[in-house]
Amino acid sequence: MIGSFCLSEAESGSDAFALKTRAEKQKDFYVINGSKMWISNAEHAGVFLVMANVNPSAGYRGITCFIVDRETEGLEIGKKENKLGLRASSTCPVNFDNVKVPESNILGEIGHGYKYAIGMLNEGRIGIAAQMVGLAQGCFDLAVPYTRQRVQFGKRIFDFQGMQHQIAHVATD
Ligand SMILES: Cc1cc2nc3c(=O)[nH]c(=O)nc-3n(C[C@H](O)[C@H](O)[C@H](O)COP(=O)(O)OP(=O)(O)OC[C@H]3O[C@@H](n4cnc5c(N)ncnc54)[C@H](O)[C@@H]3O)c2cc1C
Repeated sequence: MIGSFCLSEAESGSDAFALKTRAEKQKDFYVINGSKMWISNAEHAGVFLVMANVNPSAGYRGITCFIVDRETEGLEIGKKENKLGLRASSTCPVNFDNVKVPESNILGEIGHGYKYAIGMLNEGRIGIAAQMVGLAQGCFDLAVPYTRQRVQFGKRIFDFQGMQHQIAHVATD
């Protein structure tokens, strides 16, 4: 089963701990309300690890990780983004409208969600860096042959020194 990690929101990207999704305790369950954005693999995921704040007055120390089954009432997966790259993985909004989750579905400890998120992000960054190097290399590998085909002012644009400076800079980066 594929899983998705739901941290980011429209207004909280890099500033992840400013998330607005709330989980309100009622008896032995929690009710989650909020909207997540850019969630990888959401289209096919069977389970969602959802970061929601159970105690906004405690700031990021209220962030708690909930395990939410795809079939839970109130969980809605939006249309996937039409991305330039990484197209094998869907990236979708995920909305939570009064999603009821038993207390037993809290992953680890209440208020420790931010720690788990940092751990997951630290590992994820290595993979994302590799993906971005691959994308940049792909662009470069397609762009250079084009500069050898394209003729302007009676010359291949590759032969203009200004173009060669740009190509050399990109190759070095
Ligand atoms: C393909 C894809 C898949 C994703 N999958 C997931 C997922 O599965 N789960 C999930 O929760 N999220 C996911 N995300 C969201 C991702 O985590 C956010 O895009 C990321 O946190 C950046 O947030 P942002 O896009 O809102 O950019 P912003 O935070 O708005 O940043 C925009 C720019 O400002 C810069 N910036 C921001 N703050 C500072 C600062 N303090 N100092 C200097 N520069 C700064 C950034 O570096 C960036 O260049 C995904 C995103 C993409 C593109």
